[in-house]
Amino acid sequence: MPLITSSTIHLSLPEGSNAVLLKNLYLPCDPYMRSRMSESKGSYIDSFTPGLPIEGLGVAKVIDSTHSNFKKGDLVWGRTRWEEYCIINDPQILFKIEDTDVPLSYYTGILGMPGMTAYAGFYEICAPKKGEYVFVSAAAGAVGQLVGQFAKLSGCYVVGSAGTKEKVDLLKSKFGFDEAFNYKEEEDLEAALNRYFPDGIDIYFENVGGKMLEAVLPNMRINGRISACGMISQYNEQGDGVRNLIHIVTKSLRLQGFIVSHYYHMYPKYMEMIMPLIKQGKICYIEDVVEGLESAPAALVGLFSGRNVGKQVVVVARE
Ligand code: NDP
Repeated sequence: MPLITSSTIHLSLPEGSNAVLLKNLYLPCDPYMRSRMSESKGSYIDSFTPGLPIEGLGVAKVIDSTHSNFKKGDLVWGRTRWEEYCIINDPQILFKIEDTDVPLSYYTGILGMPGMTAYAGFYEICAPKKGEYVFVSAAAGAVGQLVGQFAKLSGCYVVGSAGTKEKVDLLKSKFGFDEAFNYKEEEDLEAALNRYFPDGIDIYFENVGGKMLEAVLPNMRINGRISACGMISQYNEQGDGVRNLIHIVTKSLRLQGFIVSHYYHMYPKYMEMIMPLIKQGKICYIEDVVEGLESAPAALVGLFSGRNVGKQVVVVARE
């Protein structure tokens, strides 16, 4: 039976298991992890178990495998845990990394779950058309920065909101948004949106919920589409407080929520699209990197005050 030794731990795969032993390299902080810290009544995903390591979708190296799809030395991304080493039994969401010509950490972001989220949420749910008006909230984050760039590639006019001047500048100078604004500096969000979209919004990529959604609804055009990706302003709240949902009726809007894991079958198609764009420099991706597992809890909490600029990544080991 193989025995793994680091300076602090000794791990081995159980005899007859269908498992992989992983050395974690890059772990992401993702907003949905907050939801897993509450009771999961009606949720699409189980709560974390107190006392056990937090789960996440990270990048790892296979140290040993009794699973037929993986072998020692493979690089993978997918479900792992906030540990230096971990055993994943019967890995369901674990993808082999074939292309290592890009930063490996990208598989926590643009080449991983957030990338697939932007892709499915924008192309599949919003079905964008050239010339349409697109608004993205939390636009400088892991998902939002990609949605804005996808919108530009689709020939749309795109405006993003974010919570600091640095992020607003990035949206325009780095990601090519046509306009961007700091929502924390706007006293009247509805009026601000009307300024940027005098003819209304065709597509709203919803990352925030609450007051932002309330401000967006009256600004939507007839037959507009809202991709309800997330509502981070509500993850520490009870109830969304949105008081004007009637606009969904009167403007014939389509508001559709989605869970990215239902779209993982499209991952190969997404890779075909995104890899050349990255390699040709037609799309860029910003990460916010912290070092060491001990930095992970503060980095996760930071998502909820907007401390991260781009995808929040925790480096556990580089190889
Ligand atoms: P980000 O990298 O964008 O980080 C979260 C950002 O949200 C923060 O940086 C902050 O930016 C903003 N934020 C935090 N609190 C608030 C608040 N109260 N009001 C307004 N903005 C706030 O995260 P992701 O890109 O990973 O995720 C974006 C959204 O997509 C989240 O809602 C997430 O839950 C959702 N999601 C959904 C998935 C799905 O399957 N449906 C999959 C992945 C993500 P700022 O400085 O701009 O305030």
